[in-house]
Amino acid sequence: MGTTALFLVVLLLSALLVSAADLYKVLELSKSASEQDIRKAYKKLSRKYHPDKNKEPGAEEKFVEIAHAYEVLSDSTKRQIYDRHGEEGLKAHEGGQAHHANPFDMFQSFFGGGHPSQQVRKGPTSVSEFEVSLADIYTGASIDFMIKKRILCDHCRGTGAASSNDIHTCTACGGQGVRIVRQQIMPGMITQSQVQCNECGGRGTVIGKKCPHCGGNKVMDHTQHYTLEVPKGSPEGHEVVFEGEADESPDWEAGDVVIRIRSKKEHGGWKRKESGLYWKETISVAEALLGFERNLTHLDGHVVELKREGVTQPGFVQTIKGEGLPIFERPSEHGDLFVEYNVVLPAEISPETKRRLLKAFYPDGTGKHPTDEL
Ligand SMILES: [Zn+2]
Ligand SMILES: [Zn+2]
Repeated sequence: MGTTALFLVVLLLSALLVSAADLYKVLELSKSASEQDIRKAYKKLSRKYHPDKNKEPGAEEKFVEIAHAYEVLSDSTKRQIYDRHGEEGLKAHEGGQAHHANPFDMFQSFFGGGHPSQQVRKGPTSVSEFEVSLADIYTGASIDFMIKKRILCDHCRGTGAASSNDIHTCTACGGQGVRIVRQQIMPGMITQSQVQCNECGGRGTVIGKKCPHCGGNKVMDHTQHYTLEVPKGSPEGHEVVFEGEADESPDWEAGDVVIRIRSKKEHGGWKRKESGLYWKETISVAEALLGFERNLTHLDGHVVELKREGVTQPGFVQTIKGEGLPIFERPSEHGDLFVEYNVVLPAEISPETKRRLLKAFYPDGTGKHPTDEL
């Protein structure tokens, strides 16, 4: 081979290597991405750029690109060819005619409605209740929290093997995962049935040397941090979904983590009912009889003036418009605040006060307190 020819080969190879990085880039992945990473990336990006949802210019082209990248990388044979020989290699593999699946059909079958055999089983969804203070529901908040979960071992990527050379085709079933068992039920009558291969547990492969990181368990315990966005006025039981963030396993696509927001029960303090807020305020006998002005510090620290003229009965509820919780998804509007008044009586009164009260309540002197008789 002459120097020029060699140079050309090198040039050609480097061109292929450059394009080889591209399909991974389209899915925002590195070349070591697992099958699960690829599915996750497709799931996220294809939704984001679906032209039904994304009206930005270029979204449809991007959607088609994403579909093509997924079509190639999710197929282990095509991925291998692509990794080694790039797009040109793929074309050669398909006999020169570039066959592309319809990206919309692909989307359809990925998100349901496709052949059940092509759908990957989804792992369990984890649902948790999360108590949030009313102050956080009033103002909206970002709350950091942690979840302990199982993730695929990042050393073996969920195979459980020390290296890819340690994954062998099961000799007992020839990689089928099942074996045919012939059984004689009665003389002359033999049934054939398929049973799961017990050598490989139905996987069709056996592991030579186990992965030293996970000890062959394929998954590891992991603590992951998340941020829960509490929307203003969040209703009780409002669900925030963290897609694909539940336990990982090589046997399924990770389910979702669902967080249900609940307001904390705060003793003696604020209570809510939908967007209404409830507060109990204690006033003195004098205030109950003569009226008053008081300041109530609201959940976010702003001050609401409580003002009453004349008599306030114990248990009276005053409605203050627009001082309740923000209305969910319309946070510029608020519900109402309901203040219930509790009247506290003095433990005892002085003889002088008593004399004055008698005079005040019974100006004609007809009123006699039982103890005055003594
Ligand atoms: Zn491992
Ligand atoms: Zn087997």
